[in-house]
Amino acid sequence: MKNNIQEIDTLIVGAGQAGIAMSEHLTRQQVPHLVLEKNRVAEAWRTRRWDSLVANGPAWHDRFPGMEFPNAHPDSFVKKESVADYFEAYVEKFEVPVRTGVEVYNVTQTKGVSGFNVETSAGTFHAQRVVSATGAFQTPIIPAIAPNDDTLHQIHSASYRNPDQLPDGAIMVVGAGSSGVQIAEELLQSGREVYLSVGPHDRPPRSYRGRDFVWWLGVLGLWDIAANEPGKEHVTIAVSGAQGGKTIDFRQLSKAGMNLVGRTESFENGRAYFANDLGTNIRGGDANYLSLLDRADEYIAKNGLDLPEEPEARSLLDDPACMTNPTLELDLEEAGINTIIWATGYSNDYEWLQVDAFDEKGKPQHHRGVSKAPGIYFLGLPWLSRRGSTFIWGVWHDAKYIADQIVIQRQYQFYPEHP
Ligand SMILES: Cc1cc2nc3c(=O)[nH]c(=O)nc-3n(C[C@H](O)[C@H](O)[C@H](O)COP(=O)(O)OP(=O)(O)OC[C@H]3O[C@@H](n4cnc5c(N)ncnc54)[C@H](O)[C@@H]3O)c2cc1C
Repeated sequence: MKNNIQEIDTLIVGAGQAGIAMSEHLTRQQVPHLVLEKNRVAEAWRTRRWDSLVANGPAWHDRFPGMEFPNAHPDSFVKKESVADYFEAYVEKFEVPVRTGVEVYNVTQTKGVSGFNVETSAGTFHAQRVVSATGAFQTPIIPAIAPNDDTLHQIHSASYRNPDQLPDGAIMVVGAGSSGVQIAEELLQSGREVYLSVGPHDRPPRSYRGRDFVWWLGVLGLWDIAANEPGKEHVTIAVSGAQGGKTIDFRQLSKAGMNLVGRTESFENGRAYFANDLGTNIRGGDANYLSLLDRADEYIAKNGLDLPEEPEARSLLDDPACMTNPTLELDLEEAGINTIIWATGYSNDYEWLQVDAFDEKGKPQHHRGVSKAPGIYFLGLPWLSRRGSTFIWGVWHDAKYIADQIVIQRQYQFYPEHP
């Protein structure tokens, strides 16, 4: 330590799954490093999710290769607290050098000497490399169309905890990805009147012919594709591990009493306006569902697998009235809606990372996490290298790649010191 500046080779910012995976791989490759976390290990799993949330994938799959979930059946969907406990146990098992309660305020390139100056709540660090593992789900996004109306209770899905937290009355959930659809169903089952605004989505079968969809996406190579098909970049995926895991089926939700509408376009004078696309969106989701069944059948036939037939998986319920006679506008007061939950996703927060690693829109510029600013790496971003990149098992493989790149750079950097 010089002048109270703490020297470190590689600094990892964030101790969620991304930071922990990064540390494991750097330890394996003997790269000196430190993880700084402003809250606690896996804080997002502990406090930034709704009460009943369980992992979207079964325990055998949604984990790191180095450790199984203790006390969980491999096919079960573990609760969010167990995911947080898992990562805490992982930190202990792999002796991850993490300092919690330390916030990174800013990272800047040092002048005239290699590396980065890192200002934190625990003083200044000088690091040769910085890995941003602060996650893709940092800042909740509420779109600009949200009505400016004090009589409405409006929250982002990140602030939703349980039905009792919401005032009496009907609820509109905007966004039908995994969060929106799970929250809407929980509210419906608690006896509330629910409106769900459904955009384009994929909805894989929870399981087919005896195998969970995570297995099918794995064997079919779909977790590993580098980018979504053109035109499907903004298509969300609606899956759920809730209630033991079941397929998301919008026709079934409608039958159960949920009011489905298309994409929310605007609000004016107490009325909400929806795109006339509910039928298209539900049929698109069905097509995605059926195409996975087709690919699974093909795979089974090609590889001679003995998995039970499941023809009933192909029968869909008839088009509900919300598809044939869609609601295109709604008087919120008449419908009794006094709460809107925006399940509309998150953006990143890189104010602390003041380096030339972004495009003009502030988007990280990188190839598989290696940024355009030498020495700066990103981890945990959607499609960092593949579809699986933001998920627990996917980030572990991305971290391995980044660790390899760091080792390669260190070999060049320390070349003159070789005997
Ligand atoms: C509702 C929801 C459900 C999900 N369910 C699943 C699932 O079932 N299975 C699955 O595989 N994935 C799931 N994901 C996706 C993903 O696995 C999680 O979002 C996961 O938490 C991402 O891990 P991460 O390490 O990239 O980021 P995070 O868990 O967000 O960790 C980033 C850490 O960085 C810290 N940090 C941020 N800024 C600073 C700073 N300046 N200084 C110091 N520390 C900082 C934060 O405190 C945080 O702890 C889900 C995501 C959401 C939103």
